[in-house]
Amino acid sequence: MTDNFANKKEASAALKYWKTQLGLRDWFIKLRFTEGAFGDNKNNTGFCDFDFSNKSALITIANLNEYERGNLVIKQPQEQVLIHELLHCLYPIKYKNEEINSEIVSELQHQVLEQIAKTLFAEKYKLNINWFNNK
Ligand SMILES: [Zn+2]
Repeated sequence: MTDNFANKKEASAALKYWKTQLGLRDWFIKLRFTEGAFGDNKNNTGFCDFDFSNKSALITIANLNEYERGNLVIKQPQEQVLIHELLHCLYPIKYKNEEINSEIVSELQHQVLEQIAKTLFAEKYKLNINWFNNK
């Protein structure tokens, strides 16, 4: 288990494993990778563009280089990012930027999903939750 998937085959195997574990086997899910973090502030490491009614999703995961990984406060292995993004398919709340209640719901949602993703990842690899502290 490393921070980045070794190759596409490893990423596909992880996707299959977590789709099964999370009860998402009948979803159509595609993975794609970007070089480096993305988004407006270039600090996104994952994104899930889901369509709940069609049970489909396009998940984007950042390929961080060693320098970018070193700057993270909390480790973000790609498999854990994948779990977080898959959890969005189970909890399909969309929100609007710049609308205060929406922003609050979004913050709460991401924090809860992130904690569950970390816990599931830590359980699979028998890691203490403190492992995520990027010393
Ligand atoms: Zn999220």
